[in-house]
Amino acid sequence: MDEQGRHKSVLGHANIRTADGADDVALGVKRRSAVDAIAAGLHKVDEFGQLMADYLTRLRPPVERLRATLAQISATASGIWQQVLAAVAAFDEYLKMARLTHERFGTVMLELGWPPPGDLAQPFKMEIVQYYDANGPAAAKIWVEAKLLDYYDTDQLKAMVEVWAGKPLLAKRLHIVSAAVEAHLQGKYVLSVPAILPQIEGLIADGFAHNGQMDGTQYKKYAASLLDPGSWLDYPAEINNFVTTQLLTAFKHGAAVGSDLSRHAILHGADTSYATEATSLKAILLFHSVQDAFRIVITSGGECYHLVGCSRVMKPGQKREYITSPFGRQLISRRACRYCLGGQPPEYLLVLHATMHLLEGTRTLNDAPRH
Ligand SMILES: [Zn+2]
Repeated sequence: MDEQGRHKSVLGHANIRTADGADDVALGVKRRSAVDAIAAGLHKVDEFGQLMADYLTRLRPPVERLRATLAQISATASGIWQQVLAAVAAFDEYLKMARLTHERFGTVMLELGWPPPGDLAQPFKMEIVQYYDANGPAAAKIWVEAKLLDYYDTDQLKAMVEVWAGKPLLAKRLHIVSAAVEAHLQGKYVLSVPAILPQIEGLIADGFAHNGQMDGTQYKKYAASLLDPGSWLDYPAEINNFVTTQLLTAFKHGAAVGSDLSRHAILHGADTSYATEATSLKAILLFHSVQDAFRIVITSGGECYHLVGCSRVMKPGQKREYITSPFGRQLISRRACRYCLGGQPPEYLLVLHATMHLLEGTRTLNDAPRH
């Protein structure tokens, strides 16, 4: 049965009256307050959905279950459930639309020459996709650039630097990247771009505790493994594509440069017209995305999980496993490291763990450690 047919039959069931009529006042009041509670609950879920568009895919099964449950209840209840069912159906449609927008935003941004920033609010993403559809890529390129330059103002970029300051992995290069952002905010793009570009490579080498020379092939290998499709990031494939086609693009002295953010062309002095606000912001956003992909690491046999960059897991020769999936089951029986996480799971793990806990009845991440 198609989606519409299913909704129809669900609503059809709602019209079936119970044998005893079931319309006495007390029951009616009870039902109404139950409906109010569900409506309030749905409103909360809706807000949550807007904030966390990347979890929309995972929200679908619970919504399906909710709808099925309500359909069962409706078989024994009267008309008011129709409204609840209609609300659930509408929410379901919203989820589908939001997911589509979320996915399309990544490819649209890549086509327009930007590493897609995952932290943009859902309505902003929707606006960009709609503008692109209505006006085409050439107009969208100009419009999106103006929008992003306006959005990533002093406050946004300072907040970004604050986030970097809390990451052990970035500690040794924080003075460089924060100075690059400072230069960007002062309009000195000629300085901000070449300051930040090599930091992306340094960050990847640090993150994987690489020793010795790192050639292009190895760099791309690390990037591909960090930005695998199960990554924490919202747009890992697009960011990886941006790294290989824009950042690491080959160039020849004297020939036209194919990318406005070619690390080689800029740092080897072939590209001398890179100093624009947009190019500088792209470099900052790319650095932000790549550092965000490094989150949790474990060692075999350890009892804790750590932030990438924790001194306890950066010893040479240690066998490390990077947890790239937000549903990394390896974390369930481990506790948060005292040194890098202060013994507390980071917020993004609390949310994920709550989901796992509900679904599987597993124990909490910050339970007492094994001894
Ligand atoms: Zn640690």
